[in-house]
Amino acid sequence: MTDKQAQPTMELSLNTATIREQWELDQAIQGCVRHGVRAIAPWRDQLQKLGVSETVKMIADHGLRVSSLCRGGFFTADAKLNMDDNYQAVDEARALGADCLVLVVGGLVSGTSDMAYARRQVADGLATLSEYARDQGVRLALEPMHPMYAADRGCINTLKQALDLCEQLSGDVGVAIDTYHVWWDPDLTRQIQRAGAASRIFAFHCADWLVPTEMIFGDRGMPGDGVIDLKRIYQMVLAAGYEGCCEIEIFSTNWWRRDPDEVLRTCVQRYQRVV
Ligand code: ZN
Repeated sequence: MTDKQAQPTMELSLNTATIREQWELDQAIQGCVRHGVRAIAPWRDQLQKLGVSETVKMIADHGLRVSSLCRGGFFTADAKLNMDDNYQAVDEARALGADCLVLVVGGLVSGTSDMAYARRQVADGLATLSEYARDQGVRLALEPMHPMYAADRGCINTLKQALDLCEQLSGDVGVAIDTYHVWWDPDLTRQIQRAGAASRIFAFHCADWLVPTEMIFGDRGMPGDGVIDLKRIYQMVLAAGYEGCCEIEIFSTNWWRRDPDEVLRTCVQRYQRVV
């Protein structure tokens, strides 16, 4: 083994959002195998379409690791309905043996403009769900979102906020660090160290920030096409003791129009070169 190989690295994982417009989950699993990608992060709509037991079997047959299941959360929407769905998400993550269940917490409560209220709803929902998840042995990963999503997707917007919340909870709750959401944060270095010291980094997502960004949703960049110092963040997360995978997760109308094999090939090449 050379010195270079002895450096700690993360296993590359395909977050299936990257090719979700082209491939169903079974095709994505086969795509990973073809391209030598040994981990996958499925989304629940596709999981349910293929069926949980069929997915578990396929993933086991191919020896893939499930780096996360995306996603639960949305605690600020209809509480009762969403909690049932969240319990089901925990069950699915458990069946898959996923490293964690990623939570997108939800934005403003419909008809209100009270961020503090939304954040309290999230804390309450999370407290309930974390007890269930702990009993099931499933780790929950809060994903802080870029502030442009605060209204409609996620009112937890910095790593600090997410970690403060984790500390109030009793279960196995940590964070999903997504370069796209956190790269701009002046407190990033310190918060990654804090997350690592508490063993709370459960997932790492990678996408680049394009300049200009044409739209709020669906214009994320392939690593290397934008302005984020991905290598630096990757190294910080590794140095903080993270031992999970690096998921390439690109919501992009541009890449969704391309041949999915080309997309996956590009992900693998860019991961090696840029990250
Ligand atoms: Zn993400």
